[in-house]
Amino acid sequence: MSHGPVTTYADHAADTPVRPGAAALLTKLLGEVGNASAAHVAGQGVRIHVEQSRDAVAEAVGCAPADVVFTSGGTEADNLAVKGIVWAARADRAGPGAGPASHVVSTSIEHPAVLEPLRWLAGWGDIELTLVDPGPDGVVRPHEVLAAVRDDTVLVSVMAANNVVGAVNDVAMIGRGLADHPAAFHVDAVQAMHLVVRADDWGVDALALSAHKFGGPPGIGCAVLRRGVAVQPLMHGGGQDRGVRSGSMPAAMIASLGASVVEVLATREQEAAMLRSLTDVVREAVGSLDGVTVLGPDDPARRLPGLVSLALDGVQPDALMFELDRAGVRASVGAACASGATGANPVLEAMGVAADAGLRLSFGWSSTPDDASRVAEVVTDVLPRLRAAGGGFLA
Ligand code: PLP
Repeated sequence: MSHGPVTTYADHAADTPVRPGAAALLTKLLGEVGNASAAHVAGQGVRIHVEQSRDAVAEAVGCAPADVVFTSGGTEADNLAVKGIVWAARADRAGPGAGPASHVVSTSIEHPAVLEPLRWLAGWGDIELTLVDPGPDGVVRPHEVLAAVRDDTVLVSVMAANNVVGAVNDVAMIGRGLADHPAAFHVDAVQAMHLVVRADDWGVDALALSAHKFGGPPGIGCAVLRRGVAVQPLMHGGGQDRGVRSGSMPAAMIASLGASVVEVLATREQEAAMLRSLTDVVREAVGSLDGVTVLGPDDPARRLPGLVSLALDGVQPDALMFELDRAGVRASVGAACASGATGANPVLEAMGVAADAGLRLSFGWSSTPDDASRVAEVVTDVLPRLRAAGGGFLA
């Protein structure tokens, strides 16, 4: 017997359930002992799973298996690429921890996992940072990124797909534009596994992925670091993974990541079609309500298939979050005000969105048409009631 309201999970861009094959392998391997770096049979038995996962990632994203470095997730993969490449470039120029600041180009809509290390490096005087704004649709214009690149630029970092608004960038065009420039090209592809991710075709030197965004467990991810691109490690220790990422490898987690990659690849096209049909339902139902603007590009090819981003007038974010949660809908709500509200979402600000609240509804592999209709129904019910109550909490 079920109690309480039906719950609908619409926050897959934050965390999506572990896929059955990935969960089964994780559980199985947690029962096995052996350090993947040990030479004995137990260690090598575990190591096989790590290498199978490395092969699966390499095949999925178009790189060599040796380019794949496992990390604790997207944040570490981004930090490793950003700090590692900048520090290696500085060491190259004047020895570790010294030398003139290097120039870096990125965008104002990157995830904090990229923006914060960049700002931190700039604060220490290690880099001079140029951030390129997106267009009003949240898409970064490749020619604007390329125009910001200078002779002394050592790193260009542009995300493949944005986590707030779902806009998909033409990173291949940026990669082509950088082909003759010595700057390394890093792409945060953490949200992009619903699309085709190709390190080779995009001409990237570094790429970040995170398993819990596409059906693997949280706390595991990887950086694709093309050999030949100098990277200083963040972790110093036993020298695992090419000496770039020391630490005993979490083999069960790594194997589970590999299994989720295989599952994504097998189902990606049909899943994307399913996700588009769910988001179409929500866009149509909610987008036509008063005071609601659907954000992001009009062209479906430039949008993540499972994500709907909305700007809302006349409602307070806290009250909206409370009412959605009370109605059983788990979604991501934030401030969205171009007029300087504290806590305003920097991505929406960079797009020039002026609204009282931002709402991100995101679906994933386990979502159903019922989830989409219920989300549409609840938002359609809650918004006018909140507005009638002056935008704040309902009595
Ligand atoms: N980059 C993007 C675009 C993300 O959406 C996220 C997570 O939300 C991250 C990086 C950080 O990944 P993780 O949660 O695995 O550290």
